[in-house]
Amino acid sequence: GARRQPHEQPAPDLAHLGKIVAVASGKGGVGKSTVAANLAVALAAEGLRVGLLDADIYGPSIPTLLGCPGRASGEQGRIEPVEAHGLKTLSIAHLTKPGKAMIWRGPMAAAAMMQMLADGDWGELEVMLIDMPPGTGDIQLTLAQKVKPAGAVIVSTPQDLALIDAEKAIAMFDKVNVPILGVIENMSTFVCPECGTRSDIFGHGGAEETSRARSVPFLGAVPLTMELRRASDSGRPAVLSDDEAGAALRAAALALKT
Ligand code: ADP
Repeated sequence: GARRQPHEQPAPDLAHLGKIVAVASGKGGVGKSTVAANLAVALAAEGLRVGLLDADIYGPSIPTLLGCPGRASGEQGRIEPVEAHGLKTLSIAHLTKPGKAMIWRGPMAAAAMMQMLADGDWGELEVMLIDMPPGTGDIQLTLAQKVKPAGAVIVSTPQDLALIDAEKAIAMFDKVNVPILGVIENMSTFVCPECGTRSDIFGHGGAEETSRARSVPFLGAVPLTMELRRASDSGRPAVLSDDEAGAALRAAALALKT
């Protein structure tokens, strides 16, 4: 018969991965990976068996956010996920040489996501979060068609430009029948590390309005803080500390759990 491209493989059985939730955004740089890492760590801290797949093939940042760079081990086509902060994770960065750029067409990147999901030795999970690349491309379509996630969480800043793209992401998931589990507003209010003054650099409340207009749950607003940025760079997610951003992310994780 005709040769199959890797991305045309039949959908694998992913029942052992539990509830699969995509964390998505319309635009890059809005904090989607940061939110995904924090939601995953918060759910693991709640005692759930959690997996976090870094499907942001062109800009993998989960290993940095969780402080777990290095290589994943594996043999005979199986891949052993990396453990960090009580969860299991895999990223293309765990499978390639450090600093290497992924110069892949969409179908290759989508195939890489499917391979990490299907060939990873995840064990029996209760929740699998997938940190998606930004936008509405090949990886999103493969996710919807082959993985059939329980739903998607959309991350946006309150800025109009980001919200327009968040709307597009919501519309895309609607079209491919992936329910929207909620919207998180990130970088909502800037809290000055010197004096504590609050300023709405990117605006405020826009994502909540969007979720109301689209009748999807609003999972909360996460402030733009120095603590969160530092926590992210140091590999110790903010949900593990008690500041305002960590608390907001923990609350969003709990809302998602119910
Ligand atoms: P995306 O996945 O949408 O491209 P990232 O999660 O990589 O975005 O975040 C982009 C940058 O912004 C990172 O350096 C991250 O540490 C920082 N960042 C994200 N959210 C916040 C926040 N609420 N406060 C401070 N810094 C943040």
